[in-house]
Amino acid sequence: MVQGSLCEQSFKRANGLKAIQVREICPNCGVLETVRDVPRGEIICTNCGLVLDAHLIDYGPEWRAFTKQERDKRQRVGNPPSITRFDKGLSTDIDWRNRDARNKSIAPSRLAEVYRLRKWHKRSRVHSNFSRNLAFALGELTRIASQLNLPYSVKESAAHLYRRALEQKMTRGRSLEGVMAACIYVACRFRSIPLTLKEVSVHSHLDRKQLAQSSRMLVRKLELQVPTPRASDYIPRFAEALKLDNQVILRSLQIISDARRKMISSGKAPTSIAASCLYIACILEGVVRTQREISKVTGVTEVTIRNRYKEIINRLKISFDLPQQLEGK
Ligand SMILES: [Zn+2]
Repeated sequence: MVQGSLCEQSFKRANGLKAIQVREICPNCGVLETVRDVPRGEIICTNCGLVLDAHLIDYGPEWRAFTKQERDKRQRVGNPPSITRFDKGLSTDIDWRNRDARNKSIAPSRLAEVYRLRKWHKRSRVHSNFSRNLAFALGELTRIASQLNLPYSVKESAAHLYRRALEQKMTRGRSLEGVMAACIYVACRFRSIPLTLKEVSVHSHLDRKQLAQSSRMLVRKLELQVPTPRASDYIPRFAEALKLDNQVILRSLQIISDARRKMISSGKAPTSIAASCLYIACILEGVVRTQREISKVTGVTEVTIRNRYKEIINRLKISFDLPQQLEGK
C-alpha cells in the first residue's frame, strides 16, 4: 500500500497530470493500484503500467465554475442552448413510445388522447411566422453545412447572421434558401474557411451570380466588415484536390508571399493568384498538371491562369522551360 501510493505520487509528478485513483484490480499483476489519467482518458496500473482502458468518456459538465453562485447559475439538465436551433433547443418533446413516467404502458383507452397531445404539442411549438421561417431556414443550414462538411463554429455564425437578417426583414421577397446560403458563405469568410461561391451555390438553389448578389446585399445591410480571403488560404484545399505533395505546396506558398511583397496580387481575385502560383510551383517541382486540370479544380478560367502566371513569372523574374507535356496546354 505504501509502495503503491508512492508510485502514484511519482507518477503524478513525472507526468504533471491530474491522476485520480480508481478502485480497479489490474488483470496483469492483480494489484489494486490503478489511476485514471484524465487528460489522456486512460486508466493505468501504477504498478506495472498496463493500460486498462484507453477511451474514457468525460461525463462531467462542459462549463467551469469557481464560486457557488457560478455553479448554481450554470447547472442544468440536457443539452446546452444552441443558436442553430430555432427555439435554441429549449423546447420539450413528448416521447413517441407509449409509456408513462413509470415506464408502464399507457392504457389503450387513453392512447387517442396522448396522440392528440403529441400532435398539438408539435404544432404549437412553431406558432409565429418568424419562428416558422427560422425553423425552415435553420433546417436548410443543417443540410448545407453537413454537405459542405462545415464545423460547428461556422454553423453558429451563419445562424447568428440569419437571425439578424430576419430581424431586419431581409427575407421579404427573397427565397429563404438564398439568404441562408449567403449567410453561410459570409460566415465561412469570417471564419477563414475559404469556400468559393461556386462550392456554396452547388448545394443551394442559387447560381453563383445570385449567391454573390445576395452575399453583397447581406454585407451591406448588416454593415459587416468581412475579411478578404488570402490566396494562401486556398492552397491546401486546391493542392489536395490536385493530389500535389508538400514540396509543391511549400513552393507555391513561397511564390504567393513573393508576389504579395511585389504587390502583384493586390486587386486580383485570390483564387486566381492561388491557381496560377500552383501552376508555376508544379512546373518548378517537375510535376505535370495542365492549366485545364487546375482550372477545373479551382474554378478559375484557363485564360486567367495563363495571364496571371505570365505576369507573376515576369515580375518575379522566374524562368523555366515549359515541360514538353505542357506545351500549348
Ligand atoms: Zn498492474
